[in-house]
Amino acid sequence: MSDATKAIFTGDRCLSCTACMANCPVMAAIKEYRGPKLVGPAHGRMHFSQEDVEESLNYCSNCKSCDRACPAGVAVSTLNMLQRAEYYKKHKQLRHENMLAHGERMAKLIRKMPFGAKFANVGMNVGKFLGVFNALGLAGKRNMPAYASTSFKNLFPKIRQAPSNKKVVLFTGCYTNDNEPQVGEAFVKVMNANGCEVLIDEGFKCCGSPLVVTGFLDEARQNADNNVAKILNWKRKGIPVVTPCTSCSLMLKEEYYELFGEQEMREAAENVYDAFEFLEILQERGEFNENLKSLNQKLLYHVPCHLKSQAIGLPAANILEEIGGVKVQTADAGCCGISGNYGFHKDKYEISMKVGEKLFARVKKKDFDKVISDCGTCRMQIHHGTDIKPCHPIEILAEAYQ
Ligand code: SF4
Ligand code: SF4
Repeated sequence: MSDATKAIFTGDRCLSCTACMANCPVMAAIKEYRGPKLVGPAHGRMHFSQEDVEESLNYCSNCKSCDRACPAGVAVSTLNMLQRAEYYKKHKQLRHENMLAHGERMAKLIRKMPFGAKFANVGMNVGKFLGVFNALGLAGKRNMPAYASTSFKNLFPKIRQAPSNKKVVLFTGCYTNDNEPQVGEAFVKVMNANGCEVLIDEGFKCCGSPLVVTGFLDEARQNADNNVAKILNWKRKGIPVVTPCTSCSLMLKEEYYELFGEQEMREAAENVYDAFEFLEILQERGEFNENLKSLNQKLLYHVPCHLKSQAIGLPAANILEEIGGVKVQTADAGCCGISGNYGFHKDKYEISMKVGEKLFARVKKKDFDKVISDCGTCRMQIHHGTDIKPCHPIEILAEAYQ
């Protein structure tokens, strides 16, 4: 608790300039939200000594646009999440909040049952049709993400790889593991093409992002401690941990330390890379495999908020433009609105769709061949708002290595 860069102390730096408010997409979408300055630094300054709770804090989506706008380095969104956790110390989470926070646990249970994924997917469709989602507090107009018939971790042992001295550990993230294992397969293919053997660590747990946003901070801390210990273990062996999910990488690289302030979280962060950030490092070292098949595709790139927050530029766009005939244009249309599990709450659905309007309009112009985005829930939101299904940029790169 002594390091002044930990989020709880950053509220004291607030200059009251309101840049965070001007950049908050939720504040622009609804008048009920009183905005990041008030619910973040203003309450953060009190260091949670007050009894009162700012009720509109519940509207914050943790998109982190406010943090990026702040000239004083206030960790506004993390202050919001810490205060949300204070709120939930006195108020029990609702059933649907509990469900959305514990997606990893649910997926594990489902996969233990015979034909579990298949039954769960049918059940979700029937549940949506019968209005069960609405009754549970979930957004009834939204499809729940379908479970893949086989998780990535079950597929992984069947993938044949040449042994290599250069190794990376894949932190799959829940969405790649349970819903889109093809992203994990594309990751392995790309890493193999670049001379890296991919390992997975069965001991990793969910990064904890869905737990943080729903106020389960103690559980998130347990996941953080578990994951940090594993990352440090790989660091001692000289093997980097790489993830294709931008929310996971942000959590592992920055949010653990902001939330919990342990020095080893910073040390672990030095061994974590976003997938394309890692490929850019290989490129800088002259180790990137440039033997790429020409694709002739115009790609529209929605840059996830949680990638922007990492301040590493646009590594996916830079790498994909190495492919002959590929042109990448950024959508430049702000937050997609779903922000992890935010848009799955019934009372947040309309807000999330309003926030996403500008992006949906941009995608609907259809002046491209494919839409790409590194974040699984951004891809879901774009698909839901436009009927156009995006893919992960690593799937495009894998295609070019064929
Ligand atoms: S995290 Fe996003 S929704 Fe929350 S206050 Fe900041 S900008 Fe607004
Ligand atoms: S942008 Fe930063 S300094 Fe300005 S009001 Fe918001 S938190 Fe305070």
